[in-house]
Amino acid sequence: MSKPLINILWFKRDLRLQDHAALAQAAADGIPCLLWYCFEPSLMAAPEMDLRHWRFVHESLLDLQQQLQGYQKKIYWVHSEVIPSLANLAEHYQIQHLYSHAETGIKLTFDRDKAVKKWCLKQGIQYHEFPHDGIIRGRKHRRAWVENLEKAYFKAPLAVVDLSQLNTLALPKNLLEQWAYPPLPAVIQTPQEGFQPGGETTAWRYLHSFFQERGKNYSLQLSKPAASRISCSRLSPYLAYGCVSSRTIMQMLRGKLPHNAGSWNLKNFRSRLWWRSHFIQKLESNWRIEIEPINPVFNQLERITEGPFLEAWKLGQTGFPMVDASMRCLQANGWVNFRMRAMLVSFASFALWLDWRPIATHLARLFLDFEPGIHYPQIQMQAGLTGYHTLRIYNPGTQVIKHDPEGIFIKKWVPELQHVPSTHLAEPWKMTPMEQSFYQCKIGQDYPAPLVDFESIIAINKDRYWQLRQSAAAKQALPKLLEQFCVPKDIVKYQQQTNTYVQE
Ligand SMILES: Cc1cc2nc3c(=O)[nH]c(=O)nc-3n(C[C@H](O)[C@H](O)[C@H](O)COP(=O)(O)OP(=O)(O)OC[C@H]3O[C@@H](n4cnc5c(N)ncnc54)[C@H](O)[C@@H]3O)c2cc1C
Repeated sequence: MSKPLINILWFKRDLRLQDHAALAQAAADGIPCLLWYCFEPSLMAAPEMDLRHWRFVHESLLDLQQQLQGYQKKIYWVHSEVIPSLANLAEHYQIQHLYSHAETGIKLTFDRDKAVKKWCLKQGIQYHEFPHDGIIRGRKHRRAWVENLEKAYFKAPLAVVDLSQLNTLALPKNLLEQWAYPPLPAVIQTPQEGFQPGGETTAWRYLHSFFQERGKNYSLQLSKPAASRISCSRLSPYLAYGCVSSRTIMQMLRGKLPHNAGSWNLKNFRSRLWWRSHFIQKLESNWRIEIEPINPVFNQLERITEGPFLEAWKLGQTGFPMVDASMRCLQANGWVNFRMRAMLVSFASFALWLDWRPIATHLARLFLDFEPGIHYPQIQMQAGLTGYHTLRIYNPGTQVIKHDPEGIFIKKWVPELQHVPSTHLAEPWKMTPMEQSFYQCKIGQDYPAPLVDFESIIAINKDRYWQLRQSAAAKQALPKLLEQFCVPKDIVKYQQQTNTYVQE
């Protein structure tokens, strides 16, 4: 007996129903289409991933389910690797097309996608990967890249999905029972307070509230760790898991920009959406950014890969209030603003001389919005590993004075310091013993003594770093790196700027 003909829509980091090119194609085909997501044990166990990510994915799937219910349609998710689950399906169905978005992910997902492609080829299944976010697969240079991003992605028509036309496949219950996939851990299915909940519907709520109200102080408060929680869009996890497409947001902005009194804010916001694709393209162009310094010469820095400094940094126990508050905030809810992220990496790299790889892995687990294509190039940039960006070293004390002068953020996340006056929060170790006792915070007892003397260690480590950065080998690598990672207008700027240093 011949098997029923079906298509499969494999959801990955594209957990939405709007502007979904793969889904639009599946709807247009008319053949019954199975909507499928796999919670892959190998990916769930990857060191970069955390339960918080899978909870967000689960919530996003529940939201899709809820939306589809209105159309009497269903999406399925299983706890299985992808190929075995497809093989199970192939025993009962003739799979004509497998549709998905391409993913610019970690090596593990890159290899998985190659394996799926190979498996499909062997089975005679046509596998279509739709490009995402204007990213060009395999591109080794940036010539005409900007023009392409604008024209072929941001300004191109949205991929509208006519859900009423989508012919979805309902799986017989006995098949699912027969396959007996293990249940998902209960912790993934339980919402956790403090974290942004997943889902396309919630993404739209964030988007509307940002445009209507929250974004009015965007540019002013972008760098403030407390106020930015409201004033930034907070769209990052929704973009990372594809609950909304960056193109949808860009097109909404196009309508708003010319008429809007707060267009300064919207322009700044727009540039960040642009950076998003720009950064993701870097990882797409060279997946090795995940494991090697962008400029290989910096392998010679021999930074520390384990030990008490790394552990103290991870736990938010460095004795530097802004570093500790940022880390503890991330542990509790998965988000801090850009500046605090940059400071965490810069502090770990230049004050503690830690290797960028354990830094990247730890922060990936903590960031609810972990997006490999932004994450690895940003970590490398802040750790000074490109050799062409301005080197910025963030002084955690200066961040307190400039961006949390009343200590609102610090006192929330480092309660040991709650009675300490804000004037001491930049350098609490400078309080006299009498002050420490008066403010109920004995340094070294209630709150850690600083791990290092910041100014003197930075002077040493900066020199150590700078010698290598100015070496002939470092400079020799630059032309190829600039060609690969920078848009043409920036190449000239970077060629002139390779030796700039700023202390923030
Ligand atoms: C070391 C380091 C690691 C980072 N890792 C990630 C990551 O894993 N995932 C992630 O989404 N962002 C990452 N960022 C970028 C940035 O900090 C976050 O995107 C931003 O804080 C998210 O908050 P938001 O959505 O309110 O941003 P908004 O300021 O409202 O910006 C809107 C969107 O633009 C994009 N964006 C914002 N800033 C940048 C930037 N500097 N580069 C590229 N895209 C940007 C994001 O998708 C963001 O959601 C990292 C930054 C640093 C310094």
